[in-house]
Amino acid sequence: MDNPKYKDLKGKVVAITGGGGILCSTLAHAFAGQGAKVCVMDLNMESAQTVADMINKSGNSAMAVKVDVLDRESLEDAKKRITENFGPCDILINGAGGNHPLGTTSDPYLLKEDLKKTAKDFKTFFDLDMEGIQFVFNLNFIGTLLPTQVFSKDMVGRKGCSVLNISSMNAFTPLTKIPAYSGAKAAVSNFTQWLAVHFSKVDIRVNALAPGFFLTDQNRSLLTEPEGGLTARGATIIDQTPMGRFGEPEDLVGTSLWLCSDQSKFVTGIVVPIDGGFSAFSGV
Ligand code: NAD
Repeated sequence: MDNPKYKDLKGKVVAITGGGGILCSTLAHAFAGQGAKVCVMDLNMESAQTVADMINKSGNSAMAVKVDVLDRESLEDAKKRITENFGPCDILINGAGGNHPLGTTSDPYLLKEDLKKTAKDFKTFFDLDMEGIQFVFNLNFIGTLLPTQVFSKDMVGRKGCSVLNISSMNAFTPLTKIPAYSGAKAAVSNFTQWLAVHFSKVDIRVNALAPGFFLTDQNRSLLTEPEGGLTARGATIIDQTPMGRFGEPEDLVGTSLWLCSDQSKFVTGIVVPIDGGFSAFSGV
């Protein structure tokens, strides 16, 4: 065990969707380091297995399960396997999520002349593809709601259980170009509050992180140039971030452990910005 600080997390069963991804694999390691039994769930079984293997190799406890957060049967199957192996889930982290190019406009602003542009890959609001928008809403919103339905039922009547959702900065103020992702994450924040109230009488706390800008494989080419340095969008983000840097996955760890431990036992329904001050800054 790394340096257990949250003693009540020891032995807890923590199921993490998107656990093979960049941010949530870091959370998987952090919870395992507190002595929790971590189930790394991901559509990409190879990455889930790699994370679980690393955790087990370090002397902590993890298992990997292939899961599609949009498929109830696969979630029920995962729950059965986790319960058999580790016991009922105490903490669910809904980390699977992401954007899709088909739900993204080419430019931040619509100009009159844009309507005359014929390039196939140039997209204004009018060209946004319903399939892309649906994909993003499903993955982020339904992909949070459905695993919660499946995993939190067994939390009812047990102490120390909680759900942690992953929202985004976009939920507070939408970023340009990505209306579907912004709307879907706003739905995740709203759902976090709704569910916190709904579950308040059965002792299940529900909170969320709203990460700012973290360099990951999905956004690296949008934010950084191949030969180093920032793209214009990357530079705008850094200019708007008072702390002057992108987030590191480790920046999410302290808040996540706190929100899922008894240290925050009277805290439910909050969405915590982890953004270097981005959401507090007016730009002036
Ligand atoms: P990532 O792509 O590294 O991780 C996402 C993981 O989800 C991947 O491993 C992927 O295989 C998995 N996944 C995708 N579809 C799935 C499905 N249907 N079922 C199960 N698993 C599925 O991305 P990340 O940057 O680590 O993002 C993690 C979460 O944080 C996401 O919800 C993302 O929207 C959110 N977020 C990221 C940032 C950022 O800057 N990276 C900022 C704010 C919020």
